[in-house]
Amino acid sequence: MSVSQNNPSNNMRSQLFEAKSALFIGAHPDDIEFYCGGLVYMLQANGCQVTFAVGTRGGKGYTGWMKRRLERLRTAHQHDSAHILGGAKVVLYDYSDKSLANDVQSYAQDLKTLIKNINPDVIFTWDPDFIYNPHSDHQAAAQAGRIASEKRCIYYYGTREPNVWIGFDINIMQIKIKALRAHRTETPWYYWMLIRGSFLTRHKNAGVKVGERYAEALRRLS
Ligand SMILES: [Zn+2]
Repeated sequence: MSVSQNNPSNNMRSQLFEAKSALFIGAHPDDIEFYCGGLVYMLQANGCQVTFAVGTRGGKGYTGWMKRRLERLRTAHQHDSAHILGGAKVVLYDYSDKSLANDVQSYAQDLKTLIKNINPDVIFTWDPDFIYNPHSDHQAAAQAGRIASEKRCIYYYGTREPNVWIGFDINIMQIKIKALRAHRTETPWYYWMLIRGSFLTRHKNAGVKVGERYAEALRRLS
């Protein structure tokens, strides 16, 4: 395991890996695993209590029983995945999938309440400037996270401008993949076959930054 930054500092290491409590904010079940699954596992292995805050249950545009069934499935899958990653506490909110942008202030208030309760040393959320996948829910989670975090230490995931890389080995990568694939409606085998190559390449390219096989990339706000 290693941590790197353009301007390495011991403070950076201690903030991340001496954190006693960490909050990861997402819009949908699976957001956090895609970009931070390895980090979540390592933090918890290091004794940190990790909490996931997820704005929607991922019902997408479906209506009626289809929507409710999908939400139930994805809620269960989020809990399965958190268990695989070491037992993160999961808090799911009931904002509508695809329209979280209408509820940024309300989600931010929920997050403020959660932050008051768990008092995280560090907070992670979507990068609002991530243009590779400009999903309005992701941007809404980024905004809500930024508002709620106030003056606390915050890192963005899903960023194109990383300044911190969290390196790990094949074992942790396998745990990350297992957690991601616990979201069975989102990563069925045929979809996984499509994205597997680019997923691994992204992590390998990030790993080069820290001399490890794989890594996750983050942007810490200065
Ligand atoms: Zn998402």
